[in-house]
Amino acid sequence: MLGYTVIVNKLRSYVYGEWVQGDDRFAELKNPTTETTIAQASTAGIDMDRALRHSREVGGPALRALTFAERGALLAAMSRTIHGAREELIELAIENGGNTRGDAKFDLDGATGTLMAYADLGAELGDRRTLVDGDPVDLGGGSRLGGYHIRIPRPGVAVHIGAFNFPAWGWAEKAACALLAGMPVLTKPATATSLVAARTVELVVEAKILPQGALSALVGSAGDVLQQLSFHDVVAFTGGSATARTIRGTERLLDAGVRVNVEADSLNAAVLAPDADDATVDVFLRHVHRDITQKAGQKCTAIRRILVPEAAYDRVAEALSERLGDTVIGDPKLADVRMGPLATARQRDDFNAGVAKLREQTDIIYGDPATVTPTGVDDGRGYFVPALLLGAKSALDASVVHELEVFGPCATLLAYDGSADQASTIVRAGQGGLVTSVYSDDRKFSAAMIDGIAAWHGRIFLCDKKIAEKVPGPGTVLPSLLHGGPGRAGNGEELGGVRGLELYQHRTALQGNAPLLARYVGG
Ligand code: NAP
Repeated sequence: MLGYTVIVNKLRSYVYGEWVQGDDRFAELKNPTTETTIAQASTAGIDMDRALRHSREVGGPALRALTFAERGALLAAMSRTIHGAREELIELAIENGGNTRGDAKFDLDGATGTLMAYADLGAELGDRRTLVDGDPVDLGGGSRLGGYHIRIPRPGVAVHIGAFNFPAWGWAEKAACALLAGMPVLTKPATATSLVAARTVELVVEAKILPQGALSALVGSAGDVLQQLSFHDVVAFTGGSATARTIRGTERLLDAGVRVNVEADSLNAAVLAPDADDATVDVFLRHVHRDITQKAGQKCTAIRRILVPEAAYDRVAEALSERLGDTVIGDPKLADVRMGPLATARQRDDFNAGVAKLREQTDIIYGDPATVTPTGVDDGRGYFVPALLLGAKSALDASVVHELEVFGPCATLLAYDGSADQASTIVRAGQGGLVTSVYSDDRKFSAAMIDGIAAWHGRIFLCDKKIAEKVPGPGTVLPSLLHGGPGRAGNGEELGGVRGLELYQHRTALQGNAPLLARYVGG
């Protein structure tokens, strides 16, 4: 074991089949509870062009030679290997991410669960290398002329750039889709929390699961990797919209026509319908509370805007305040702690600045932005912030609530008149999101919400009393359903079962002798 611990504190990248240490400009990885430096990372000196060529020329052909079933088996082995080190990885996530054990498991089990879901999909797609897209096309009234659309792996590299909040799930979900599609991966996790990402990659490499060149990792800055890409390559980015703008505008990507998928910010909403049954209200409260506190609110899918009918505003404010009051904030190593610190000093400062802006147009319902007293932590240490519930009874006048994503434990309660029409108008003010959840026992209300907001979202989560006990909540991204969203959310699409492979596949129309084409595509 090479060991990503405090002992070996210079993290290495895995490129051109070797572990390589950067030689300059080291970034520091901190323990956000104690603020001590636990590791350093740098990619300075790494030959990005060589790294990409190794992936394209060694990893790509090896993956393309495998069937979907064989690639799926590799994903299953990756999943099992990472799962086998779960305890060690939980410790690293606590140390480097400020995760509670529960937060860490959410990330790690999300990673292994998604890898396994795509392993199953590989088995289902079976003993083939090409996907046929749609039905055969008859091109000439009874003649032998016909057409097919096929989807084949793009002969480039899938460059994955991840956000800090899900160091395991973030890279694994992208890698699952690309590898199953037959594309080699060069993954670049966010530097600040890269300990877990680096160790998971190391586990997979050490276990010799994948063919050479199928998986590489840059641990540290992206350097000039984007300047080396060509048209068969793909960039899948997750992170803030400002970084997304920079990446999208990279001249090299524009010139070469590189496919870029963006998963960015989102002001996800939860809508409580006026008719909701007690069981539905209860799960609504549970989900909102979980989204404010889980991973200290650092989830792209977390509920930021809570819409309730005017008549329910005070009751919901009280119930959520009570739940937040019972949430112990502190050292994530402690068993009774439910919320740890934010991941970095920058996140803490951005959170405080964001809350100050939100407060210009909202009232404080629960929490004091200036006060947090974390359990088991030395005075003043750590990147801790309080959990906050803000409120605005005049929902559309609080424009900042619909424009500014504050990435931490903060959400805003908003009143609406009880109609799906007004709830939709308020939700749409977020200008495109990953997910909105609707808690209703009135089918007409739910249907009107779908009509009102579907085109603004990648996913709508509909909850009623009949499924209240079993649902995972809107914050859990499922491999079988689409993840992404239009507008502010980046206009990207990931996952969604077999749909998740499309980003990494090229579609070609085949036109010719229909029976011969049928034989080629296996139809
Ligand atoms: P970020 O600051 O935008 O960084 C994201 C990634 O981009 C990091 O790996 C970062 O590397 C890299 N990066 C920064 N500048 C770059 C450049 N010029 N070229 C290439 N790569 C570059 O975001 P973050 O703070 O890690 O994450 C928080 C944000 O992510 C939030 O806004 C959240 O909403 C969003 N997010 C969205 C989703 C989603 O699925 N939609 C999921 C999770 C998070 P370094 O770390 O080395 O700087």
